[in-house]
Amino acid sequence: MTKRQDTRPSRISTEVDFAAKGVQHGHLTIPHSRNASAWGSILSPVSVFKGGEGPTVLFTGASHGDEYEGPIALMHLMRTLDPAALNGRVIVIPALNYPALKAGTRLSPVDGKNMNRAFPGDPDGTVTEMIADYVQRFILPLCDCVVDIHAGGRMMRFLPACVIHRLADRQMMARTAAAARAFGAPNCLVLEELDAHGMLDTAVEAMGTMFISTELGGGGTTTPETLEIARNGVHNILVHFGLLDAPLKGPGKTRFLETPEGAFIIAREGGILEMTVEPGHEVAAGDVIARIHDIDAPAAAPARYTAPSHGLIAHRHDAGQIARGDCLCVIATETDEFDDG
Ligand code: CA
Repeated sequence: MTKRQDTRPSRISTEVDFAAKGVQHGHLTIPHSRNASAWGSILSPVSVFKGGEGPTVLFTGASHGDEYEGPIALMHLMRTLDPAALNGRVIVIPALNYPALKAGTRLSPVDGKNMNRAFPGDPDGTVTEMIADYVQRFILPLCDCVVDIHAGGRMMRFLPACVIHRLADRQMMARTAAAARAFGAPNCLVLEELDAHGMLDTAVEAMGTMFISTELGGGGTTTPETLEIARNGVHNILVHFGLLDAPLKGPGKTRFLETPEGAFIIAREGGILEMTVEPGHEVAAGDVIARIHDIDAPAAAPARYTAPSHGLIAHRHDAGQIARGDCLCVIATETDEFDDG
């Protein structure tokens, strides 16, 4: 499904010319009239690097404003990428939800919206919806591959992983898995999203364009390990698609994990969370994975969560308290379906 042909103009403008050769550092200028600035706008950085003939790759970070591997790795790319050495075009938006990044929050403080649920967006909508629409209609059609760098944010923690989706198109699935192997993260989650509506992922895949994402650590900060994975992955994607003639950096063998039915464990109680496993731990069916304690029933036994089947903890809720309905953890299973050769 593609978005209906929408001919409304975007209210977002930019000084960069996506067709021009060389390097341009500019902004998406998003109108934002408010109490503190009547004729104000939001200036969200965008850079374009264009060398010789070749594919176009879009890198985005901070779709959620409390995930920092993307912005740091992409600012590094913006400082170091030489368009003269490039066979193709690289578009970088280091903070897709710029207001959220400035606030350090998952959602935009301007309109309360989740960038990764705002696609295909609306040119006459809120700031988040305007950005989504601009990306959807004016940037995604230029792209051969989109790499959207996520992490766990303040509330979640992941086994550092590249993320791809199970695709109906077998050839695209194989090409996407090959790109994920090149990215070089220690793990690759082949996800079935709980709810894919409004995601950039969905918008890109609906266009038949390759989409690669990540879930690198979490807890609302970075680690040396997750940053190295992000920086290397960005470089390796450019090498994989022939934009850069350079060796791959630090790739180990990627372990592919999938999320079968029942992989997402949802909390049925709220309270104080005691995880008894961590991302990367293996569990067997029946193993205790968590207890949720109720301070208002201090002598009662805590709610007990067990693994429904054998697997590997790929994600956990990272905050000390959990609400009923939160995702407690994800138990993934290893697959050799996407291993090379
Ligand atoms: Ca995220």
